[in-house]
Amino acid sequence: MKKYAIAIHGGAGTITRSGLTPELEAAYKSALSEAIEIGDKILAEGGNALDAITESVRLMENNELFNAGKGSVFNHEGKHEMDAAIMDGKTLMAGAVSGIRNLKHPVLLAKAIMEKSAHVLLANSGAADFAKDMGLEFAPDEYFFVQHRYDQLLVAREEGQIVLDHTTPGDEKKFGTVGAVALDVHGNIAAATSTGGMTNKRWGRVGDSPIIGAGTYANNATCAISCTGHGEYFIRSVVAYDVSCLMEYKGLSLKEACDIVVMKKLVKLGGEGGLIAIDAAGNIEMPFNSEGMYRAMKRSGEDLFIGIYKD
Ligand code: ASP
Repeated sequence: MKKYAIAIHGGAGTITRSGLTPELEAAYKSALSEAIEIGDKILAEGGNALDAITESVRLMENNELFNAGKGSVFNHEGKHEMDAAIMDGKTLMAGAVSGIRNLKHPVLLAKAIMEKSAHVLLANSGAADFAKDMGLEFAPDEYFFVQHRYDQLLVAREEGQIVLDHTTPGDEKKFGTVGAVALDVHGNIAAATSTGGMTNKRWGRVGDSPIIGAGTYANNATCAISCTGHGEYFIRSVVAYDVSCLMEYKGLSLKEACDIVVMKKLVKLGGEGGLIAIDAAGNIEMPFNSEGMYRAMKRSGEDLFIGIYKD
């Protein structure tokens, strides 16, 4: 039986045991396990990595616990502008969208852009037109309204701050972006990321998630990566491609490359966050330099792992 594996994240940040109620912790765990199971099932049946990660991300986009799709944070104008990307490690094809509004599943649009357009990245109303052409599902503003996220916007506006997602009231900083990486039985790897970005962000702000090489990257020869964290730092550090380059040009292992980029280079710059990474041998790394990161992984023949806190 050929190996397959999948890992997902639901954001990183100041996530501590004392900051999460037992109910909320249980809700996150069940959301993560549901999302990874759907991808794992596709892989177990011989499906491809791209389909597995798309389904896992799509499920998380339905859940208001996460800052993606339905649970996306508000920008300064009180609107939702979402970013997403997907990349195929076999062909190095990629699709991404930034600033999409009212679309239920930005990851499906990223995939359609990769598979059905001549482009890699579409933005704003042009992306919306393409989504309509593709018959993708839109929803009214009310669908995306989550009261505590709106409250966070009011506070952030008042304080004049652009803040990372505060998923739980009382938390300091949290990034609720979602992502998935997988290896399928055909030996191919892929990565996908989807996010609402940052609360109170300026209209038109683009984060790292849809920037190929920054928040999302996949190459069968090295690794597939999905990031979460303070996007501006991840763009400046070209995080995902940096991990890949360290493997490609320096011959580092996935773990060595991830440690350098997330625990050393990003920390030095002040960039908080983490990533999930997989290579074609099925190795998985999930490093983060914040207090916690919602994460899960499952390899063929092994038990499901779900983690939230540092230790
Ligand atoms: N990286 C995302 C962004 O800056 C935020 C996050 O990971 O929650 O848009």
